[in-house]
Amino acid sequence: MHYLESDILFTGNSEPIKSGILVVDSHGNIVDVLKNKGLVPAHKIKKIDGALCPGFINTHCHLELSHLKSKLERETGLPAFISQIPHIRKTEQQLIDSEIEKADAQMRQNGIVAVADISNTNHTFKVKENSSIYYHTFIELFSLNPELANQVFDNGLQLEKQCNTPSSLVPHANYSVSNELFALIKNYNRGGLLSIHNQETETEDRMFLDRSGLLFETLTNVHYFTKTGKSAIRSTFPHLPNAKTLLVHNTFSSLKDMKWVNSNSESFYWCTCPKANLYIENRLPNYADFAAANCKITIGTDSLASNDSLSILEEMIVISKYQNVDINTLIMWACKNGAEFLGLDDLGTFAKGKNPGINVLTQLSDTFELTSNTKVRPLNINDL
Ligand SMILES: [Zn+2]
Repeated sequence: MHYLESDILFTGNSEPIKSGILVVDSHGNIVDVLKNKGLVPAHKIKKIDGALCPGFINTHCHLELSHLKSKLERETGLPAFISQIPHIRKTEQQLIDSEIEKADAQMRQNGIVAVADISNTNHTFKVKENSSIYYHTFIELFSLNPELANQVFDNGLQLEKQCNTPSSLVPHANYSVSNELFALIKNYNRGGLLSIHNQETETEDRMFLDRSGLLFETLTNVHYFTKTGKSAIRSTFPHLPNAKTLLVHNTFSSLKDMKWVNSNSESFYWCTCPKANLYIENRLPNYADFAAANCKITIGTDSLASNDSLSILEEMIVISKYQNVDINTLIMWACKNGAEFLGLDDLGTFAKGKNPGINVLTQLSDTFELTSNTKVRPLNINDL
């Protein structure tokens, strides 16, 4: 049995505990969380410099795009970002594979224990299957052409057969899926987790309101698209299966839309990827609106195509730098909410019986808030 004392203990589901003790067995199972270290004989206590928190959950990644690091121009806005992609030279499979392996290792080193990962190909399947990280694979489908709906869906089914991690078939974004393809996904879904890119760019709503704006002008096959006169998410909402759903980005979601979604369903989680938002749009969501609408917020890294690292801690640091969100709240988003979305009862909090992974955070401020120098390392219980 290990009795771990740190400068401060972030449990993921309570106020931070100073001079507390985390009791852990040799397999990493949480045996107890003690608020008073006086209950344990001093010689049994192992002091860890820094703070402890549960392993991080990354709820949005595209591991298969890892080879695109630094290949796409920054701060162009999403429409221009999308249009850069076909011009990128085809990459050798060997390089694609090795970058995927590196990215998986990087996430482990950054204290990430579970990932919701998007796949359009089978490139990542082997790595995800063999990783110590828990992966849920979202097999992502898109096509605005209704005549291609069956073919795109069948390709997704074929891909799903090859995938040995838990998986589900999901729509790419509000603006890139025909009603016919949405219907096939909805009909197939039996409560499996859902994910969709939502309101990532300013003109996404414009497209649905009156078939105009930069996104509309940039997309191909847009002649198939009919306007709805409603915002993007309100337009998509009726097409979604009745399942736990992750809305990804939400950079331009209005407070009205957030409240509307949450009042119509309790199954929605709101994933923020701040560093990718800054990379692509040079803009962050308004986190005060998320709070005002009672959104269940999770954190994602997005891919290395739009980020220079795969680190949930770095995402948290960016949020705390630009907006007023305290570390304890950020840890709840990064751990508890992500685990809850993925349905992983074992992860997300330091609660008795769980095995959530243990992260050590160092270089916090004097008041135990994040600084731009804060670092994370996973604690290996066998090294103690
Ligand atoms: Zn994405």
